[in-house]
Amino acid sequence: MQQGNQRPGGGRGGRGGQGFGPGGQCVCPSCGTKVPHKRGTPCNQIKCPKCGTMMTR
Ligand SMILES: [Zn+2]
Repeated sequence: MQQGNQRPGGGRGGRGGQGFGPGGQCVCPSCGTKVPHKRGTPCNQIKCPKCGTMMTR
C-alpha cells in the first residue's frame, strides 16, 4: 500500500520579516526609527529609543 498523505515542507517557517500592518511596527516621525509594536500598546504611547519622540504609525 502507498501512503499518499505525506506533504513535503510541513515545517513551520519562523520568518520574522518586516511587515507593515496591524500590530506591526511603530515609526518615529522625528528620526524614522522603527520599533516592533507590542500588542495592546498604542504606538503613541511608545517612546523612540533614540530620540525620545512619541512613536506613530
Ligand atoms: Zn526618534
